[in-house]
Amino acid sequence: MNHYIGAHLSSATGFYKMGKTALEIGANTFQFFCRNPRGAKAKPLDPLDLENLRGLLAGGGFGPVVAHAPYIMNACSKDKGIRELAAEMMAGDLQLMEYLPGNFYNFHPGSHVGQGLETGCTQIAAMLNAVIRPEQQTVVLLETMAGKGTEIGGRFEDLRSIIDQVACQDRIGVCMDTCHMSDAGYDLLHHLDDVLAEFDRVVGLDRLRAIHINDSQNPIGAKKDRHARIGEGTLGEAFFARLIAHPKLCHLPFILETPNDDAGHAAEIARLRVLCGEN
Ligand code: FE
Ligand code: FE
Ligand code: ZN
Repeated sequence: MNHYIGAHLSSATGFYKMGKTALEIGANTFQFFCRNPRGAKAKPLDPLDLENLRGLLAGGGFGPVVAHAPYIMNACSKDKGIRELAAEMMAGDLQLMEYLPGNFYNFHPGSHVGQGLETGCTQIAAMLNAVIRPEQQTVVLLETMAGKGTEIGGRFEDLRSIIDQVACQDRIGVCMDTCHMSDAGYDLLHHLDDVLAEFDRVVGLDRLRAIHINDSQNPIGAKKDRHARIGEGTLGEAFFARLIAHPKLCHLPFILETPNDDAGHAAEIARLRVLCGEN
């Protein structure tokens, strides 16, 4: 079986070009930013470029792809203006994603900055309910987080609390991040099946739509969020082979967010395919 394995790619020089890069590095899925990840401002939409990528995705044996929201987005800021900006950015990105129907839009739930988990989760759900349209063709994903500072999403219960308050139940899902989960204290390395069972109990495995495959520079529970290349961290290469080939996960898109350039990601993808027994 050929798994869907890819990497986070730059969309700076165009969306179609990014799809071509994916093919060049042996990827059959990938992740990208719809806009500058550190700024709020979006480039004007280029429908032709997006149509071209859509054609490439349809014909190229790709699995679903994942857009990633800007890092500066915080739907549970204390500041109303920042919360409104988050909604504005997500609405704009989801509009762009309608040119690439049937894919995912992943975001960091946010940091409650002392307001408390409950208020934070309620504010995040309020933004999702303001922005998600029942007719949209993109499923929005909450990312599992390392739980540093007041970050929401370090516990599966956080995600459950948000999901429970979302009106469009068929447009909300989860993206796991292996570095974040290990840093948050989930023992993926030694107890993968137990962690998956716990996720299934709290959130539901049917919500899981994508996985970020990152090794971690830090030990389990460190709450740091420092990604390492595959095999250069505390999870190790063999773990990722097991993860990707896992019968409950093997159909999902797996995205590298490792500190690498495209050539480095190509080598990681090739290595993972060998380890998973692909030819
Ligand atoms: Fe992320
Ligand atoms: Fe991630
Ligand atoms: Zn991270």
